[in-house]
Amino acid sequence: MAPARRTLPFVLAGLFALWLVVPAAPVSPQLKGPGTGSRGGVVFSVPMEAKFVAITFDDGPSPSLTPAVLGILRQHSARCTFFPIGREVQKYPEVARQVVAEGHEIGCHTFSHVYFRSPAMARLESEFDTCEKLFPETLGVRPTLFRFPGLAYDTTMVQAAGKRGYTVISCSLDAYDWRIKDAKQLAQRVTSLIRPGDIVLMHDGDWLNLPRAKEALGLIFDSLQQQGYICITVSELISFGLAEQGRDQGPE
Ligand SMILES: [Zn+2]
Repeated sequence: MAPARRTLPFVLAGLFALWLVVPAAPVSPQLKGPGTGSRGGVVFSVPMEAKFVAITFDDGPSPSLTPAVLGILRQHSARCTFFPIGREVQKYPEVARQVVAEGHEIGCHTFSHVYFRSPAMARLESEFDTCEKLFPETLGVRPTLFRFPGLAYDTTMVQAAGKRGYTVISCSLDAYDWRIKDAKQLAQRVTSLIRPGDIVLMHDGDWLNLPRAKEALGLIFDSLQQQGYICITVSELISFGLAEQGRDQGPE
């Protein structure tokens, strides 16, 4: 084995250890999220006056974290949108069914969390096909919202999702819960940047640190309640936004 190949595993292990112990660089408040409003067939937020927001959870369900998230949402009468990975729904159908039973919305986030970095239409269509069979059979729902893994997409992919009847959802506030390691900092970021109509990206995947995620979520939902925000699903946020626009324009 060449020396470089022998040392590579150690280098990778070292980098992973560093990632665990070294505090992440602070996330700039300017990096709130990828956009606002709607653009090119993708919804980032739903600008509105009323204090409604949609908190979304990607990459679940997780048998350890998702039930804890559901408990926190129940305590705060919050209804959210979950974008589970199809493969994880297949692995943990009972947890996914609990999400539906508690009145939350289910969107699609592909079956295998594949990143579509280059045009890969055949793969995308097959991911749609698999999810469109799995979700109705397992959960009794056919999602109308779709979020691309890593928020990586191009116009052709967005159009392909549109042809299937999906509304493509991005976010206007990325919590960076995969990057910020301190629960209080994470909560502070979300609760200080949030504005009416925001779609907030968070995760309930197994890979999150459970105690930290629980602490952050408790702080976030306490603060949102104190600030007078009402947490609703993305589909409700879109409908409320349309209704608010209609009121602004007045009767024809
Ligand atoms: Zn994801």
